[in-house]
Amino acid sequence: MKRRELFQAMAATAVGVNLMGREVFDGSASPAPQKGATFTTRIRRLELRHTWTTTMSSSATRDTLHTQYDRDGITGYGEGAGIVRYQQSALGGQKALEALLPLIASADPYSYEKLLKDLDRRLPGQRAALAAVDLALLDWLGKRLGVPVYRLFGLDPKDTAVTNMSIGIDTPEITRQKVREAEDFPVLKVKVGLATDEATIDAVRSVTKKTLRVDANEGWTSKEEAARKINWLESQGVELIEQPLPAHLVEETRWIRSRVHIPIFADEACHSAEDIPKLREAFDGIVVKLDKSGGLIEAQRQIHVARALGMKVMLGCMVSSSCTVTAAAHLSPLVDYADLDGHLLIANDPYQGVTVQKGKLILTDAPGLGLRPVPDAKN
Ligand code: MG
Repeated sequence: MKRRELFQAMAATAVGVNLMGREVFDGSASPAPQKGATFTTRIRRLELRHTWTTTMSSSATRDTLHTQYDRDGITGYGEGAGIVRYQQSALGGQKALEALLPLIASADPYSYEKLLKDLDRRLPGQRAALAAVDLALLDWLGKRLGVPVYRLFGLDPKDTAVTNMSIGIDTPEITRQKVREAEDFPVLKVKVGLATDEATIDAVRSVTKKTLRVDANEGWTSKEEAARKINWLESQGVELIEQPLPAHLVEETRWIRSRVHIPIFADEACHSAEDIPKLREAFDGIVVKLDKSGGLIEAQRQIHVARALGMKVMLGCMVSSSCTVTAAAHLSPLVDYADLDGHLLIANDPYQGVTVQKGKLILTDAPGLGLRPVPDAKN
């Protein structure tokens, strides 16, 4: 075959083989939907290393919704960790998705924007389940194209963020133990929001001088109490505070902001990109989570909206497996702070994905999310 004929033959098919021997789509044409694509869900029970307590809840296990998208011999994996505060659960998410599975399986995955918008309308109040779809689609797409997901977003893996390690609410003795276990991490995020806050910080400070971040999870009830505690926390080497007051108390948070020096971040107060402009006067930054946003695509939009308004961004996560945390790590080059340790809190992670070295999130050049299922994961 002459060189020109070879190029013509290559152009006639959208599918080729890259140097790694993986089948890749060259993007020159959208392939016709194929028969046999499936989208399935299952619930996995994640066991926590320590009972996890915040102002919201306390638990020894967490159920999360896992998805699998099989098409053209390629499997994409997704996960959604339902958020109790928004009345979400793994089972609720699974039921909400049930009737939509044929629609997802038969949709054109290359037109994921249209599909995800359609699903967002059909899944009111189920953004974590939507995230489980978004992640599986993008994992599949990256694998199909032969590139890591961070490449789909135009990001450099060398720029991944450094994550803090979270310390849930506990007795002073166990708090000290958790801080010692987190010795590899340069920054800690401590959960507060109860009457025991000062004892908690004292316990942390008895073991380490590291920079701290603090999350009150809406736990303080008055602006005066919050302002007093934040000023004390500032004296204890705390660099930022997350959601000091209940989410709806935006005006009261603005009052606090004028009386403290460290940045205040909105987590529970910020669900969607549309929320961000009205938070601008009260908060210095927002916390983006894939389970709140409904996946990577909407999370990226929130990050850009916050940036356009001059706000900082922290990328966080719920207690979840390496599936969600690795997906978030792919977006982390876009943010100022990372709180991506949910997979480190569990003992039976069903995936291997992002690794952490002295807090730095490390991604490989494997296509898609780069996840490796653990064959004997007990969940
Ligand atoms: Mg938070």
